[in-house]
Amino acid sequence: MNFQTPALTQPHLRSRMGKVCVAIAASSPAGMLERASAAMQESLFLEFRLDYLPKPLSGLPKLKHFLSDHREVTAIATCRRTENGGKFGGTVAEEMEILQKAAAAGFHLVDLEIQSAESLAPAALEKLRSRNVALLISYHDFEATQDLEGILARIRPFAPDFIKIVSTARSLADNVTMMHFLESARDVAEIIGICMGEQGIISRVLGIRAGSRFTFASAGQGAETAVGQIEARTLLDTYRIGQIDAATRVYGVAGNPIRHSLSPIMLNAAFRRETVNAVYLALQANRLSDLLKLIHEVPIYGLSVTMPLKETILKHLEKTDPVTAQVGACNTIVRSQEGKLYGFNTDVAAVVRPLEKRLPLKGAKVLVLGAGGAARAAVFGLAGKGAEVHILNRTPQTAQKLAREAKAKTIRREQVAKSSFDVIVNATPVGMHGIKPQQILTPKELNARLVFDLVYNPVDTPLIRMARQKGLAVILGVEMFVQQGARQFEIWTGKRAPEEEMLRVVLHALRQRAEAGAGSQPGPSDHPSQSSERDPSRGSGGSAAG
Ligand code: NAP
Repeated sequence: MNFQTPALTQPHLRSRMGKVCVAIAASSPAGMLERASAAMQESLFLEFRLDYLPKPLSGLPKLKHFLSDHREVTAIATCRRTENGGKFGGTVAEEMEILQKAAAAGFHLVDLEIQSAESLAPAALEKLRSRNVALLISYHDFEATQDLEGILARIRPFAPDFIKIVSTARSLADNVTMMHFLESARDVAEIIGICMGEQGIISRVLGIRAGSRFTFASAGQGAETAVGQIEARTLLDTYRIGQIDAATRVYGVAGNPIRHSLSPIMLNAAFRRETVNAVYLALQANRLSDLLKLIHEVPIYGLSVTMPLKETILKHLEKTDPVTAQVGACNTIVRSQEGKLYGFNTDVAAVVRPLEKRLPLKGAKVLVLGAGGAARAAVFGLAGKGAEVHILNRTPQTAQKLAREAKAKTIRREQVAKSSFDVIVNATPVGMHGIKPQQILTPKELNARLVFDLVYNPVDTPLIRMARQKGLAVILGVEMFVQQGARQFEIWTGKRAPEEEMLRVVLHALRQRAEAGAGSQPGPSDHPSQSSERDPSRGSGGSAAG
């Protein structure tokens, strides 16, 4: 490693480049320019993926026009060949011709894959450099995160202005590998390092702190040019990447699946509102051992834990609060300075508090539907407050077991219509978006003063609508969701949680997802314990870049 980092070809380039480069890809120059104009609201640093155009050369005049009209924009031209994960089917010579013309059209940087650079005569590379354009040489590994030092050593002899190494995260710990690499390489090169894949989010958000010169983001949902790429707006507004520094504390929600979790939106909004220097990430935990390694190495200061880890995490905790031990599930972790993990359960308070605000729980007659993780939190919490709890579950044996443990009662379905309750709590997924529509109770069976549906997507469930039609008071599942997150925020920060703001962002996100339609619903990521293991191969892999 004794090669010198070259001086930047364009002296002002460094100061012009932002932290977030938005990748612009479209199948026509007009489509590209439309995306580029919109992306300028987020960042003035854009990468144009010329390889997405059927005829990149004929698109250049329009892009030249755009760049001369928008001199505030700093632009990278990329024309990645199919062999290297891009969409350009031409030869290396044709790629070079396009990049040279892009330089002449006003692009400030060109991205050349190491494979192309290695196949060129030195004179060809010199010709490109003579265009007063900065050269970025990139390498993409679509399989794994491995031999990053070796790749760096392969690229450095070409003395590019920037070196971009993009790997694929197959585990959360791969992000740690990438960040350690960035920390060591930042002194010898202008380096950009990112892990692709669903598990690469940590490198996308924390990579700059580790030494990455900048990072890449997508122009919008569906416009990603790499697996796991985050929208520029999310990176800037939700994760506040511009403000992350050495003192920023890292928190997260761990589970599987986790992609649609609303917790990052909610907790990052809370940190922002209360000016806490912290960031909260969605951590796709395919293996508990991988998560535990990450907690200690990043380090992670606190974790929300969701399915399927709420029970399995227990044996790795130094100590838990009494509620966690009683329910047998932990949804909140605090990591001490010495690295010890302490467990809490905020689901219980999230069911109890909204009810307590509305009626005295001592002696209240409550029907809980379901006997799974959420029901356990509800039954233990309510029984603990002196309520008379009746459990109805599809599988009676599970209800009986829970009733024995929590000193509650079970009830048979045929008794429900003949009984009346102060509260009915639905702790089954019935009514949830994406679950087969079904009626959990008939209107005749809904004999209560107050109905609390723990399902929060959709916001107004069929059960809630039925209760309203009967003139009953209701509590929405989003209230529980916000409450469990609010208590986590308080445990971690010692500050009062901005509950109104948290509710506002969650409702906004749910509304947006409802408008976007099926496929983007939160799914069960934020729900309490389930022991079913998910397909560990889900997630990373893919076909594009950065
Ligand atoms: P879980 O552990 O899988 O338990 C699900 C329970 O619902 C089980 O008792 C199951 O009965 C019952 N059930 C499932 N499908 C049913 C059906 N079609 N008809 C009748 N009963 C059915 O799930 P969980 O973690 O407790 O979560 C349950 C729901 O609570 C979630 O889907 C979510 O909507 C909601 N939740 C909301 C929040 C919040 O913050 N608002 C938090 C957690 C959960 P069997 O025993 O017969 O399988």
